[in-house]
Amino acid sequence: MSRVLIADDDRISCKLLGSLLTKWGYQVEIVYNGVDAQRELLKPDAPRLAILDWMMPGLDGTQVIKAVRAIHREFYTYVLLLTSKGQKEDILEGLDAGADDYLKKPFDAQELRARLRVGSRILDLERRLVCALETAEYRATHDFLSGIYNRAAILELLKREASRCERASQQLSVLMVDVDHFKVINDTYGHLVGDQVIKQLALRMASALRPYDLVGRFGGEEFLVLVPNCALSAAMVVAERLRLSIATDKMAIGQFAIPVTVSVGVSTIKEAKLDMNLALQAADLALYEAKSKGRNRVECYVPSEPATKSTSSEDFPCLKG
Ligand SMILES: [Mg+2]
Repeated sequence: MSRVLIADDDRISCKLLGSLLTKWGYQVEIVYNGVDAQRELLKPDAPRLAILDWMMPGLDGTQVIKAVRAIHREFYTYVLLLTSKGQKEDILEGLDAGADDYLKKPFDAQELRARLRVGSRILDLERRLVCALETAEYRATHDFLSGIYNRAAILELLKREASRCERASQQLSVLMVDVDHFKVINDTYGHLVGDQVIKQLALRMASALRPYDLVGRFGGEEFLVLVPNCALSAAMVVAERLRLSIATDKMAIGQFAIPVTVSVGVSTIKEAKLDMNLALQAADLALYEAKSKGRNRVECYVPSEPATKSTSSEDFPCLKG
């Protein structure tokens, strides 16, 4: 049931309007001056349809409309201005102030009813448009299978986080995570099970990370994790926790209990030389190192040294999945 706010200092007019609208199926809220109307319409859960009298004590109808239009909200308020002013310039002034429609007093009930229906249609259209935009935005930035960020979105976030960390003189670590022998999982259990593995992986990774870390699906079975405000040594701890969260328990998918492990490459961008591409390349190199050293392990890339450096084999005992 649509809610409508009626604002009119003429109580008899309010009563008449109120009973008509109730009869037509609207849920009616009534105020008797402009100040109350403005307060009600600026509330977060305000009615989205309003009938405002032009001449009211406190604030007049056009002033209320201007206040409503001045704040930017995610929803639109459709305002019908009631006026005994009948001059063309008055009407133009009302529409200029932001009214969507106007009706001259004394109004004809059937005309009012038709105009309210127009208002409802426009609000409905707006609702559907906002919903479609939100859906489109979600689809454009999220991986349809796992629900985490897609490649384009996580790269965009990397750019944002890199410049944020640069401003704040912080380090940003990135983790490149790759499922070990994913092809074998697909070949053994089928691609539908492989899809479920990706979904569960995304969940397990998200729960192993801090709330402000970001994870995206970088490729088929490859994930990129951004760990802001985190030096290399701390990022290695995060990576190891993430690796364990996947390797410790087999994944229960249908009747199968599937051992899944990941290899992780870690690199850190230091302030002053925040180069995202270099960081990604470094994490990739470290990931390659983790793969070649037997998988299910974490390796990091330290730029000052000629080759990659392992902390995994000594510091973290590897679990065989
Ligand atoms: Mg009045």
